[in-house]
Amino acid sequence: PELANQIAAGEVVERPASVVKELVENSLDAGARRVEVTIREGGRELIRIEDDGCGMHREDVLRAVERHATSKISRIDDLHTIGTLGFRGEALPSIGSVSRTEIRTKPHGEVEGTRVLIEGGQIKEVDATGMAAGTLITVEDLFFNTPARLKFLKTPATESRHITEMLVRMGLSRPDVRILLKKDGKVRLDLPAVEDLKDRVLEIMGREVYDDLYPTYEYPAINGVVARGYFSKPGHSQRTSKNIYTFVNGRYVSDSTIRAAIKGAYGTMLDKRRYPSVVLFVEVPFELVDVNVHPAKTEVRFHDTQPIYRAVYHAIADELAEAPW
Ligand code: ADP
Ligand code: MG
Repeated sequence: PELANQIAAGEVVERPASVVKELVENSLDAGARRVEVTIREGGRELIRIEDDGCGMHREDVLRAVERHATSKISRIDDLHTIGTLGFRGEALPSIGSVSRTEIRTKPHGEVEGTRVLIEGGQIKEVDATGMAAGTLITVEDLFFNTPARLKFLKTPATESRHITEMLVRMGLSRPDVRILLKKDGKVRLDLPAVEDLKDRVLEIMGREVYDDLYPTYEYPAINGVVARGYFSKPGHSQRTSKNIYTFVNGRYVSDSTIRAAIKGAYGTMLDKRRYPSVVLFVEVPFELVDVNVHPAKTEVRFHDTQPIYRAVYHAIADELAEAPW
């Protein structure tokens, strides 16, 4: 089982940012209102995630560090209607198999919490701990026992950038959750919980971009597909596509159909090699999309790209056609 975990870890845990992604997704799935991430040395030395979510009972946390122990699906059918971010039950055992991981967790209403220490996939210690309700996971010495993986890590600055970007994506998908990133002792990102997506966009992209954003046109659903969000005036484009954030059913996704539809909507209003700022949420009925492609990738597979393209296209193009630029 240890080898299986390490192999799964190769898929799930590519770099420190993947650890952050998996753990923060778990915090969000646990209903956290606040998630605090601490990293040192680009996450290679330390990644700590603290949440105020539902926490775990002792038997649940022990089960969770085993492979394929998810509390989120009970029947295989559920896979198609899954509403949580995680569902494979691979993250905790994978991370535990390639690091020294300590989990402290306590459900609301419980007197004592549980502390579990895992090193290279072995459970080393299990005991009780006093703490506030929620979960605190500390991942140290990532890839200490998989030198080949360690070798592929980039500089701490680069790995930190990937982590920040990961949190920005998750931050846009959940404006209602406070997200904090501390890097080598300094606050690197502090996103207060807000009611409206636009306020989170302001926090992330700044006033100048914010002032140029327009809400998408409320186009009726096309085969159940709806696209909603904000996009920038054509006149205020960027030199890179870094301000384009697209989500499918709440997850950050990078998809060629969606990108093509955005580009198509602006058409000739956008100069060559210029990019708009876009934050777009595409809701796709579960039967039209395969989310089970790859655990760590940001791609999805659409069974039919037509309704996706048209929904995204009209959400932007129809507003552009009406707006008084
Ligand atoms: P998955 O998210 O696919 O279910 P994980 O390995 O990421 O699998 O987590 C296993 C299980 O551990 C989850 O299903 C959940 O029940 C529990 N869990 C993990 N992280 C947390 C957390 N921060 N708060 C509460 N429960 C958690
Ligand atoms: Mg998970």
